[in-house]
Amino acid sequence: MPLYEYYCENCDGIFEMLRPIARAAESAPCVVCERTGERIMPTSIAAFTLRDGYPRKLPDRGTYWHLGKEVKSRNKGRFKPFQHPELDKPVPRRRPSKGEKQVADEKRQERRKEAGKMAASGVRPAERHLPRKLRNKK
Ligand SMILES: [Zn+2]
Repeated sequence: MPLYEYYCENCDGIFEMLRPIARAAESAPCVVCERTGERIMPTSIAAFTLRDGYPRKLPDRGTYWHLGKEVKSRNKGRFKPFQHPELDKPVPRRRPSKGEKQVADEKRQERRKEAGKMAASGVRPAERHLPRKLRNKK
């Protein structure tokens, strides 16, 4: 028997029920208050079930739903709305590899050499950005 979802207006909640396909459209007694619940389509669940702004399902297990995944706590703190501390582990900062370090070292040496050449040609650091003809000649 397939599982169908029903909405109880009294509890403002969703409950599920195993039923033969032929009886799916009939109303069903709510698992909490036993009043009549009406069948809802799965796509409309998110619109119905909200607790503190978070979708829930009945019976309420005290959990929250984050982007369709069950979590134990609400998303608070410095997490962005589409992230959750229980689902998104903080990404460790990538450390540069040996190769990258070497490239950076070479670039630094290159700059130092360039600065040395500039100094040797008599261009003072503050003037380096100026066009050649505007620089003070020795
Ligand atoms: Zn109910």
